[in-house]
Amino acid sequence: MKMRVVAYARYSSDNQREESIDAQLRAIRDYAKQNNMIIVKTYVDRAMSGTKDNRPEFMQMIMDSRKKIFDAVIVHKLNRFSRNKYDAAKYKHKLQRNNVKLLSVLEKLDDSPESGIMESLLIGMAEYESKNLAREVMKGSLENARTARHNGGLPPLGYTVDSRTQLYIINEETAPIIRFIYDSYINGKGYNDIINELNKRGLKTSKGNNFTVSTIKDILKNEKYIGTYTYNKAEAKNVDGKRNSHKSKKEDQIIKIDGGMPAIINKKDFEEVKRIMERNKKIHNTYNAKEIYLLSGLIECGECGAKMNGNISYYKSNGDKLRYIMYRCTSKSGQSKDHIKSIKRDIIEEYILTEMEKVIFSDNVINYLVKELSKFSNAKGKQMQDELKFTKNKLSKIEKDIENILLAVAEGNRHASLMDRLSKLEEEKESLIIQMEETKLSYPETEPITASYLKKVFKEHKKILEQRDKELIKKFISLYVEKVMVFEDYIDVVFKLSPFLVQRGHGEPHHK
Ligand SMILES: [Zn+2]
Repeated sequence: MKMRVVAYARYSSDNQREESIDAQLRAIRDYAKQNNMIIVKTYVDRAMSGTKDNRPEFMQMIMDSRKKIFDAVIVHKLNRFSRNKYDAAKYKHKLQRNNVKLLSVLEKLDDSPESGIMESLLIGMAEYESKNLAREVMKGSLENARTARHNGGLPPLGYTVDSRTQLYIINEETAPIIRFIYDSYINGKGYNDIINELNKRGLKTSKGNNFTVSTIKDILKNEKYIGTYTYNKAEAKNVDGKRNSHKSKKEDQIIKIDGGMPAIINKKDFEEVKRIMERNKKIHNTYNAKEIYLLSGLIECGECGAKMNGNISYYKSNGDKLRYIMYRCTSKSGQSKDHIKSIKRDIIEEYILTEMEKVIFSDNVINYLVKELSKFSNAKGKQMQDELKFTKNKLSKIEKDIENILLAVAEGNRHASLMDRLSKLEEEKESLIIQMEETKLSYPETEPITASYLKKVFKEHKKILEQRDKELIKKFISLYVEKVMVFEDYIDVVFKLSPFLVQRGHGEPHHK
């Protein structure tokens, strides 16, 4: 049996660039014919400029979808279906409830609104690349550190640098401060006790400042004090030579040489400090864990349109202190009395991540996206080259003209009109040069991103997703998820790349 479909076309006279109703319907008819579908009804809305948005035929079509007289709605472009994503999600859900699909005639990549989404994904990927690149470059500079030499800046407290060899040596004047700090901590003194004692004795950091909790912590964690020479990016950036232990460090960014410098603290004491710190941290974390909210900024209440924020409430059960972690609608309680205002964080996040795996990170979708994205990226690159070439040709013609005039001038021709022409050409030349610079600037990526690079990034993101490493997922989730809307009885997810998936029949429909 042929699939029964209806056509929906919309035209608003305030946008001169859009296709006429006739053109939209023609494309829809061709599409239906090609796909062996039968159009049972046609709905058309003509929005007059300046009038309030009303779409009587659209609303009729949504109503009719309940009657089970058609299986799908075809539009020319998805933006014909609705004016914004909120609207789109709402009505798509209504259609889906009635088992009606939404189909769109395939759009040409470059003039589709989705090309903006492609662009933002590519830029996101490029940023990701430059971060990776920075790591590579850094690795190279680390080669200098392999000989355990001082790397500039102030040496850590307790050491000085031998001016001849540039190697670290113990400073017998300040090394006792380090021993004192370690001993005190092992004997159960808190950070503030230690700081007070140091201040009382008038002792200062290597920079000559008073000690703070973070300088004490840094000292207690610094492996240099057990003779392990360490070098990492964070340290290289820090002018006072103090290790910045607050920066996250990957193992491959750190060079360690055991015995690369003289030890002030023995390994047993260092391990003991580490053990105490970890124990304290565990106790601290149980009560003060920093919660990650993957969807903050992306999630909103579908019922009232307000943002939803991460929120924790505590309650007691059988004497245990328990937590309820959720996203909460931020509208004032008076207005939101009529709807449920919160959703459990873990449930919604797991749902979104599972959907992402299905809709974006399945092999066939990734392959498809890689193909489309690199096509888009190459097209962009070529477009820029073409524009530059065009301007360059113009420029070389002008330069030739200028040259000819200068020759004439050299031969004694100083006619006013000639001089006039010369200054005009000079002006034109200048503006063309500016234009070329502007062209280059208007393309964020001069080098097209390669398919293999895109594949690599997708693969990496997929792995992180599988591991449910939320800290890392948070860094890229907004590349893929546009918006999450929480309704009383369902959740709408708008994925950034989904229009392609829906149009071309890949993956799942992009909302549930
Ligand atoms: Zn609400």
